[in-house]
Amino acid sequence: MNGIVIKSTGSWYQVRHEDGTIYQCRIRGKFRIKGIKSTNPVSVGDVVDFELEPKKDTAVITDIHERKNYIVRKSVNLSKRTHIIASNIDIAFLLVTIDNPPTFEGFIDRFLVTAEAYHIPTVILFNKVDTLTEETLDQKEYLEAVYGLIGYKCIDVSATEGINIDKVKDLMKGKVSLFSGHSGVGKSTLVNTIEPDLNLKTTEISNQHKQGQHTTTFAEMHPLSFGGYIIDTPGIKGFGIVDFEKNELGNYFPEFFALKSECKFHNCLHVNEPKCAVKDALDRGEIAPTRYNSYLQMLEGDEEHYRQDIYG
Ligand code: GDP
Ligand code: ZN
Repeated sequence: MNGIVIKSTGSWYQVRHEDGTIYQCRIRGKFRIKGIKSTNPVSVGDVVDFELEPKKDTAVITDIHERKNYIVRKSVNLSKRTHIIASNIDIAFLLVTIDNPPTFEGFIDRFLVTAEAYHIPTVILFNKVDTLTEETLDQKEYLEAVYGLIGYKCIDVSATEGINIDKVKDLMKGKVSLFSGHSGVGKSTLVNTIEPDLNLKTTEISNQHKQGQHTTTFAEMHPLSFGGYIIDTPGIKGFGIVDFEKNELGNYFPEFFALKSECKFHNCLHVNEPKCAVKDALDRGEIAPTRYNSYLQMLEGDEEHYRQDIYG
């Protein structure tokens, strides 16, 4: 039989068969997955084969199907091992509000870069459009133009007024979705509007993190009534940190990547090199200065600020 891991407590895994039945599974012995030194061999989102245990109502996971992607969290300082938060994510929704709270471009860009590195398509949801003023409307339209041109789908929504909720649901159907964004942007409200019976834990547990408690993060997946799953990642507002090689970073800015072959040097960092197609495009106004600034900041590698940003 096979199914999808929807919850894990460390030693037991809840696996949902496609007929909707949930099996309590454990793993026997050790799974070694090449290339990853992780503290958890099986993660939420994994598609697994399992066998029922004779004369018991429990089952044993026998195989893990190859992951198409996964998001990780580095253990803070003890070891270099990573914790796989969730795998096989089809789509990420980044909630952005212009004010109350403000979402700055640096945060959006870091999220998008990480999502690119993880191969997770991202849709930007501008929430709270019911509260826009002339000034914040302007800012929203500017951001929509910047991100829309790069190729990111942008949707105006209001979680409280029910604006464009159907568009979001259409994108979620049959897929594994992840919702992210600063605290207060409306994640819980939106998810509640989409699926009223779900009660996500995002907020409460992230507050525990603020108090410095050593909580282990276990994600959970909730089946959706209209098909698909939503991933709840308590205590995490964004993705884990990805360690970039400096010369890889530009690959995760799609509009830079598209120009890379036109730079004089194949390993161009788009900083001080002559005949750089990215800097030329920046000068012509075809690359947004905020995107280029985000790139420079990430290149400098001071990620401490970002760490606080996403872990709260
Ligand atoms: P979370 O921290 O991202 O889960 O944010 P919440 O869902 O808790 O929302 C934070 C606040 O924003 C709550 O007071 C919500 O009622 C409010 N809120 C969420 N979505 C909207 C919206 O579309 N319009 C307005 N006006 N308020 C919203
Ligand atoms: Zn260049």
